Amino acid sequence: MSSMLIHGGTIIDPASGIQARGDILVKDGRIESIELGQSLERAADQIIDAEGCLVTPGLIDPHVHLREPSEGQQHRETIAVGSAAALAGGFTTVCSMPNTLPPPDSAERVGALLERGRLAGNARVFPVACGTIGRAGESPTDVASLIQAGACGISDDGDGIADDDVMDAVLEQVARADTCFMQHCQDPSMTPDAAMNAGTLAVKLGLGGWPREAETSMIERDVRLNERHGAKYHAQHLSCAESVDAIANARQAGQPVTAEASPHHLLLTEEACRDYDSVFKVNPPLRTSADIEAIKSGIARGTITILATDQAPHPPQAKQTDFASAAFGMVSIECALPLYRKALIDDGVIDWSRLIAMMTIEPAALVGLEHLGRLTRGGVADLTIIDPDLEWTISAEDFLTTGRNCPFEGWTVTGRAITTIVGGEARWSLQGDSRLTLATGH
Ligand SMILES: [Zn+2]
Repeated sequence: MSSMLIHGGTIIDPASGIQARGDILVKDGRIESIELGQSLERAADQIIDAEGCLVTPGLIDPHVHLREPSEGQQHRETIAVGSAAALAGGFTTVCSMPNTLPPPDSAERVGALLERGRLAGNARVFPVACGTIGRAGESPTDVASLIQAGACGISDDGDGIADDDVMDAVLEQVARADTCFMQHCQDPSMTPDAAMNAGTLAVKLGLGGWPREAETSMIERDVRLNERHGAKYHAQHLSCAESVDAIANARQAGQPVTAEASPHHLLLTEEACRDYDSVFKVNPPLRTSADIEAIKSGIARGTITILATDQAPHPPQAKQTDFASAAFGMVSIECALPLYRKALIDDGVIDWSRLIAMMTIEPAALVGLEHLGRLTRGGVADLTIIDPDLEWTISAEDFLTTGRNCPFEGWTVTGRAITTIVGGEARWSLQGDSRLTLATGH
């Protein structure tokens, strides 16, 4: 029997509409009671002083790369390390992408990933399994068996499924298995040698251009194919205005379509590539300030409902080369929360409650983990305690992830998770923070 009292914070639970000061008592991994407006008796094994803080359902990142297994590659990131980094960012649950070697295209491999995640004992890890065998885009996997083995969704992330017939067959299976398909929207025929946003700057820098149509055309194709199936379809990491429109149209037509935005596509433009610094090389690429505005407007209108980091650690040598040959990807999971705050709250796009919804119940609904995205009496005690006003400077050297490829290095930001609680256990607390205390007795 262990108990924990979280005292005096502002409880935000978008799923139930709660936003009020109160206490939460946790017992044996579950939420025993939520008292709004008054204090619970201060008798618990552990007391967390959440005065001035937000207390929210545990944050969920539906798009991370944990890089394990990585046979024959130089990756040093592991499931254990990546899921610890997630905790430090305030995330209690992450969905891991399948571009590993080998990729999770069988029930057995999905089971092995789940087991690794459990053994690590950090943030919960739910694998997203492949849509095609070997992630090769040629023959569909057995989606039902992957979901039965514990996968929380289907994707070939790292690549989109380009072949129409294959995509059609995958969507059919996804609909039947009542799961979701997460598409990496990139038509490969339009992006040979692409390194950055197509346009005058790419020409000037002599770098391969990545046309916006490579993204939008795949979304439009998928939406067309999905008319017959009605599968839950999710477009990953939207980068441009036309894609936001494509998602809006599909949703208006009643399709179960969702989309996500990432910190870098909300805060950085192609201008960052001007000095050939490969830390700004990402897939899909950084676009323009007009695209940032379109993505923000999509979030304000409810077209884009999910926030995801696309955490993509790389060993230094993969980035320490010329821009054209460097690896795509960035790390931001440990600083995503204040980055979202900066882009969306400080800029008046949405409020805290909506931001938390986009990081809890919305991704939870996508991947079928609704019970983890909300606060309910008797429910699993996955919680994040956030100091919304804590100012700090991002330093990748301090990250738990092995990735140092963070484009936000040196930024001073506001807001930070101070304690991350999984199953009633405080698995991470900000070092030097004294708000977590052990009670002296009952
Ligand atoms: Zn991707």
